[in-house]
Amino acid sequence: MTSPFTPGIAAGRLSAEEVARNFADLHGPYDAHEAAVAADRCYFCHDAPCITACPTEIDIPLFIRQISTGQPEAAARTIFEQNILGGMCARVCPTEQLCEEACVREAAEGKPVEIGRLQRHATDSLMARQGHPFDRAPETGKRVAVVGAGPAGLACAHRLAMHGHSVTLYEAREKPGGLNEYGIAAYKTVGGYAEREVAWLLGIGGITLETGTALGRELSLESLRAEFDAVFLGVGLGGVNALMAEGADKDGVEDAVAFIADLRQSVDLTTLPVGRNVVVIGGGMTAVDAAVQSKLLGAESVTIAYRRSREKMGASRYEQDLAASKGVRILANVMPVAVHGTGAAAEIELEYTAETENGLTGTGERLRLPADQVFRAIGQTLTPVDGLEMDGRKLRVSGTGRTSVPGVWAGGDCTPGEDLTVVAVAEGRDAAEDIHAQLMG
Ligand SMILES: Cc1cc2nc3c(=O)[nH]c(=O)nc-3n(C[C@H](O)[C@H](O)[C@H](O)COP(=O)(O)OP(=O)(O)OC[C@H]3O[C@@H](n4cnc5c(N)ncnc54)[C@H](O)[C@@H]3O)c2cc1C
Ligand code: SF4
Repeated sequence: MTSPFTPGIAAGRLSAEEVARNFADLHGPYDAHEAAVAADRCYFCHDAPCITACPTEIDIPLFIRQISTGQPEAAARTIFEQNILGGMCARVCPTEQLCEEACVREAAEGKPVEIGRLQRHATDSLMARQGHPFDRAPETGKRVAVVGAGPAGLACAHRLAMHGHSVTLYEAREKPGGLNEYGIAAYKTVGGYAEREVAWLLGIGGITLETGTALGRELSLESLRAEFDAVFLGVGLGGVNALMAEGADKDGVEDAVAFIADLRQSVDLTTLPVGRNVVVIGGGMTAVDAAVQSKLLGAESVTIAYRRSREKMGASRYEQDLAASKGVRILANVMPVAVHGTGAAAEIELEYTAETENGLTGTGERLRLPADQVFRAIGQTLTPVDGLEMDGRKLRVSGTGRTSVPGVWAGGDCTPGEDLTVVAVAEGRDAAEDIHAQLMG
């Protein structure tokens, strides 16, 4: 928690100009010439490995050929047929671990075709010039409830609407978009893109969006099952793990996801308080995003403290290098022991770790770092849904997202699998196809 007067945490560390520069688009868009040059590098492989490396299996060689023959809008249709959030994925996919890692030019030359940036070029072109590119099938008379308007729920709702079903999309928060709106680093999705993309996606028609309406609050699973022909849950991971360290309840110890949500919703980043000395506990994408954005807001020293080796960090090497390039220090093989300070955090005490055959243990050797703000980025958790079986810490699903209750599907972060935007889109889309097949017999 941070009170408005937590010492060491202050707004306005940088001028408005510096903040604007720091939070500018990470990879600006290609112009037509740059796109043509980048597209020319593609070998248009038969059985292209990039297609299978993309969780939504976009026909990458086809859309790149369409760009190179001057048809970016046709390229966009190729992308959107598989991935209706192809514009966001172009900005946020860890391509270095997905399509671009599989590119044969990556293996041969260590420099892949820049698939993500080409994808952005195509999708931006279509979204700037045309309305919604798909038409709905005739009304089927079937009604489906989709709970959660994040990438999984949006992809599912869109595909169902395209098949002619009538969809009610329930969202607990004020705005739709899920982590696209509240989580992804600000410099990856600038200019209100997440909001514009949702409005564009809803252009398909047939989807009624009800925000401020939550399952477990205004809605129950029983009432949805009674009212609709099918239910899809794309509720993501709302909870966060607690930090098991002495003093973890001090002012200045905060949840990284909540900090990022505040940052994403802030209309003036110079008013957003940040510590002078920030320590982020964790090793995934959230840890990197909290650390980098703290630095970009003007924190003097920012350290990511991760309990295992750097190779085991959830954040990719690319993300780690990005953090280092912004001046973030990554300290591996340390775990938090205590947060010190009178009322508010002032220092964090860490213990070095070793990975032994009995698991991870503390070595006894300790260090202290100044820390007036400590972010917990140690994983998110699912709030269980009444009546649905769990598979470990997520909802049990089989095949294309069927849960343990008939007529209820689920996908995205709330089900097992990698927690990535593109995976959530693939799961939402595939569940929609399964729901459609079942509803139409
Ligand atoms: C800080 C951060 C940065 C990330 N950066 C990246 C990145 O750069 N690239 C990438 O690929 N992935 C990234 N991810 C992961 C990615 O954002 C998620 O995998 C993706 O958003 C999952 O989509 P989802 O639809 O399953 O869940 P969410 O995006 O979490 O959406 C779930 C939606 O359901 C709503 N909801 C929850 N409970 C209820 C309820 N009971 N009733 C109604 N609505 C409800 C929520 O409000 C939310 O809108 C990041 C994640 C975080 C936390
Ligand atoms: S959706 Fe992501 S993984 Fe798939 S081709 Fe596009 S950038 Fe690559």
